[in-house]
Amino acid sequence: MDEEKPLTIEQFYKFIGEKRLMAVRCEGCGALFIPPRTICNRCLSKDLEWVEVKNRGKLITYTVIYVPPVQFQSMAPYAYGIIQLEDGPRIPGMIRNVEPGDIEIGMELIVDFEEEKDGEQEQQGRQGWPRWPRYFFRPP
Ligand SMILES: [Zn+2]
Repeated sequence: MDEEKPLTIEQFYKFIGEKRLMAVRCEGCGALFIPPRTICNRCLSKDLEWVEVKNRGKLITYTVIYVPPVQFQSMAPYAYGIIQLEDGPRIPGMIRNVEPGDIEIGMELIVDFEEEKDGEQEQQGRQGWPRWPRYFFRPP
């Protein structure tokens, strides 16, 4: 029962690990939140629950990273942007499978999920990076 799961960022990433993009919906006013909240900031309701959202959205803004944090060095340069999902919430993430020069504001992107690689996980663990599954954006 997804409704019973805690409204935490850890749970959000557990769903990502199951390849599910989940938001928290306020039963009071219908607002959707990513990352999850325990109180609605629109109507102050505490009646919130997990719902699955469509993994499709439009790019609102992005930046190309040439000097990344150490754990992403092998991927540089890469683009990092914010998309507005069709269902409303905005989420940030890495944009892949597009040349930085071909990225356009307003382009459609879908949220895809990273496969876990054992070696990579181990290395990230040593560097103190959370071993949470990741998602990224790519053209549909
Ligand atoms: Zn609300």
